[in-house]
Amino acid sequence: MADPRSDSPDGDHGAAPRRSIAVISHPDAGKSTLTEALALHARAITEAGAVHGKGDRAGVVSDWLEMEQKRGISITSAALQFEFDGMVINLLDTPGHADFSEDTYRVLTAVDAAVMLLDAAKGLEPQTLKLFAVCRRRGIPVITFVNKWDRPGREALALVDELAERIDLHATPVTWPVGEAGDLQGLLDARHEHVTMYRRAPGGATLAEEEPLSREEATARFPDRMPDAVDSMGLLGEVDVETFLQGRTSPLLFGAALTNIGVRQLLEVVTTLAPAPGSRPDVTGEPRPVDGPFSGVVFKMQAGMDPKHRDHVAFLRVCSGVFRRGTVYTHAQSGRPFATKYAASVFGRERETVEDAYPGDVVGLVNATNLAVGDTLYDPDGPPVEFPPMPVFAPEHFLAARAADPGRSKQFRKGIAQLEQEGVVQVLVSEARGDGQPVLAAVGPLQFEVASFRMEHEFRAPIRTETLPYSVARLANDQDVEILAGTPGVEIAHRADGTRVALIRDIWRLRGLRRDKPDLELAPLLADA
Ligand code: GDP
Repeated sequence: MADPRSDSPDGDHGAAPRRSIAVISHPDAGKSTLTEALALHARAITEAGAVHGKGDRAGVVSDWLEMEQKRGISITSAALQFEFDGMVINLLDTPGHADFSEDTYRVLTAVDAAVMLLDAAKGLEPQTLKLFAVCRRRGIPVITFVNKWDRPGREALALVDELAERIDLHATPVTWPVGEAGDLQGLLDARHEHVTMYRRAPGGATLAEEEPLSREEATARFPDRMPDAVDSMGLLGEVDVETFLQGRTSPLLFGAALTNIGVRQLLEVVTTLAPAPGSRPDVTGEPRPVDGPFSGVVFKMQAGMDPKHRDHVAFLRVCSGVFRRGTVYTHAQSGRPFATKYAASVFGRERETVEDAYPGDVVGLVNATNLAVGDTLYDPDGPPVEFPPMPVFAPEHFLAARAADPGRSKQFRKGIAQLEQEGVVQVLVSEARGDGQPVLAAVGPLQFEVASFRMEHEFRAPIRTETLPYSVARLANDQDVEILAGTPGVEIAHRADGTRVALIRDIWRLRGLRRDKPDLELAPLLADA
């Protein structure tokens, strides 16, 4: 059988092969620390702390965050690019914390694999579960890294069981810890018969010193820990590429990002198991060959929050061919030419001009006011292509908005329409409120802050908002709407395309409705199945 990972031979452009990944985790699991450790191993950054400062935490990213926080909002997200073992790795940032938003999910449409980062003491946490659900629906294979093994935590096998029971994901060890959480002596390697012991480097932010031992040597040194590690790991299956790519199994690693333990092994798994950028199906389902002429899709927009420097950066993933700065491409949705003079790679506040970019890479197109999430650019010298629109993710926050100044209702409508088109917020029209008071729906409240800010500063139509007491949206077919008519705690609204949606207080209310009215369908609101 052909190697399923080599759907693309990485194109014939002569550039190093690519792997494009994102880390999915709950805040505090150690994503920033792992990002720094990955880059340190990969030597994209020579000085420890350049990505994410230790001690005073004054690295590039945190500086940028501080700047953003001064503006009261955090909007950072882009890609860090580094090399490992002759391969270029694009690590796309998935913003969490308060800036968790639809953009966080959209980033996952631009990667080929994800690293699920778990805190050894906490296991699966809410934000991890949400992001994992998106990976699963989109068929993105997931590698699992259990972090903070240097601190007391759960038992390794209990974490493995949690994955199987809660998300039906079967972990296949790549490494297994020698010593329980808080007593990490080394990592047993599943493929090679050796064990890597670690001596902690002082200061933490440098590479921990590795000492390879044979299993016999390790057993002689740790007679009370090795047998347990070998037995536990032996209970689980081996890494299996096919089921990994299908999202059914997950290569499992343990470590401590803070002391760089297990990070090299993680990079090896990324380079050897994660799929290369492959052909993407276009809107008709036809694959666009990865080595064909240039095409790319916009997966995220970042609108300048500073009214003095109102720039819109469109983040584009290269899907096929080679992106060359300065070339005029075609914007599929409007058919108009799109000049790419201002192209940059963006991570944190650093912007570097990009000249060429290859499938899997991310390009930031500066001043891209005419682009929206989901839009396609392609090389007009090749066959036209349009990729499917960006999926709509289930919102969990809702508010009713109206123009603060009724005299500005024209600007209000224009602004709301623009924000909807760009994907800043989802816009619904409630049958009870009418279109003068649309319902804004979002995955995270940051989206409302952005919308409100832009309505005031960009469209000069400040808004008044009322937070609505709902946290669940479900599709409502005609029959559901009939059954729900007059039900307290439920509001019916529709999208621009006419789809009707039931806004429901919470999951318990939904369960109650289902119990009392068993004929309700109320299908999940997911366009990206
Ligand atoms: P993020 O919110 O997921 O980006 O998490 P951070 O990278 O900021 O880490 C959260 C906290 O966990 C910080 O205090 C880190 O120093 C700490 N941390 C991260 N990785 C490890 C680890 O491997 N071991 C220990 N002991 N602490 C860690």
